[in-house]
Amino acid sequence: MKFNAFWIEKSDSGFTQSVIERDVEDLPEGEVLIDVAYSSLNYKDALSATGSPGVTRNYPHTPGIDASGIIAESSDSKLSVGDEVIVIGFDLGMNTPGGFGEKIRVPSDWVVKMPKGLDLHSSMVIGTAGFTAAECIQKLESAGLSKESGPVLVTGATGGVGSVAVKLLAQLGHEVHAVTGKADKADFLKSLGATEVVSREAALEGLDKPLLKESWGAVVDTVGGDMLFNAVKGLRYGGSLAACGLVGGANFSASVLPFILRHVNLLGVDSVQLPVSEKEVIWSRLASDWKMDLSSLEEALTIDKLPEAINRIMKGEMVGRGVLHY
Ligand code: NDP
Repeated sequence: MKFNAFWIEKSDSGFTQSVIERDVEDLPEGEVLIDVAYSSLNYKDALSATGSPGVTRNYPHTPGIDASGIIAESSDSKLSVGDEVIVIGFDLGMNTPGGFGEKIRVPSDWVVKMPKGLDLHSSMVIGTAGFTAAECIQKLESAGLSKESGPVLVTGATGGVGSVAVKLLAQLGHEVHAVTGKADKADFLKSLGATEVVSREAALEGLDKPLLKESWGAVVDTVGGDMLFNAVKGLRYGGSLAACGLVGGANFSASVLPFILRHVNLLGVDSVQLPVSEKEVIWSRLASDWKMDLSSLEEALTIDKLPEAINRIMKGEMVGRGVLHY
């Protein structure tokens, strides 16, 4: 059985992108074969598609860390042919052919049944990026975030994780301050619920200082690098920062002062290896009390449009969520 897939090949001159026809027989072993209906474009997919180290080891390869679709074959009694399902994270799209192909075959313990309240399309508008935003907020809540904590800062705010974080935090009643490098997107961020828009330059002021004014009740940081630790230095007493990204750099210089003088927390967030039972809890919240109208965030993509969108996300120019429609 043939299907179309986005295909990254390594050559002496670099990495090439094309769309090819593949055969289901060439997919890896796994309990569940899924007809993919939608996928979405995440920063990590762009890293995989451009051969950046640390994501995909073996090429040729089909990226796509997200997929929603309908089960076509299953050897796991808990999952039936015809079930609508979501797969995000684990090895999907990293070294296992991912959602940028019309079919995937995966282990059954990567598969989440579609919760009531979401569907094949809305789940991929959320995708890994939106899921990770929700995971950050869940972790901040566990560390004490409440409406009384003070403004919540979101960095990389127009990106996939950032834009959903702004939307969800505002919907939950928080005052949201959004950091962006895109001055012309202030109205977009305000339409998502941000009350203040902070320029990237302003958010990076005071790098040389050990502490900054106590401003933030919490931070969702998608940027890493200096942005991350400057935000830690601006946390209010007892506040927390959820760190999930590295678009601005993986390293930062830090001091213990915010921790021992202001009692703050630096929380790590990973959506990839999070066990499926914990993923199900977050998906069911996203389908119920955390359900959002994300239509203003979606950019619909087709498989032939992926190279241009990958280029944009690598340059930090993507806004909202690129959703791949089959
Ligand atoms: P996007 O590219 O959609 O968004 C990133 C945003 O960050 C950009 O739109 C831009 O927003 C801002 N940005 C880009 N470059 C820089 C820079 N050099 N300095 C400061 N800000 C910058 O990516 P995603 O939202 O998909 O992912 C964000 C990060 O989160 C990535 O590092 C990704 O790998 C990580 N991630 C981690 C996960 C986990 O499980 N831990 C899961 C999902 C994502 P603006 O112009 O508004 O500032």
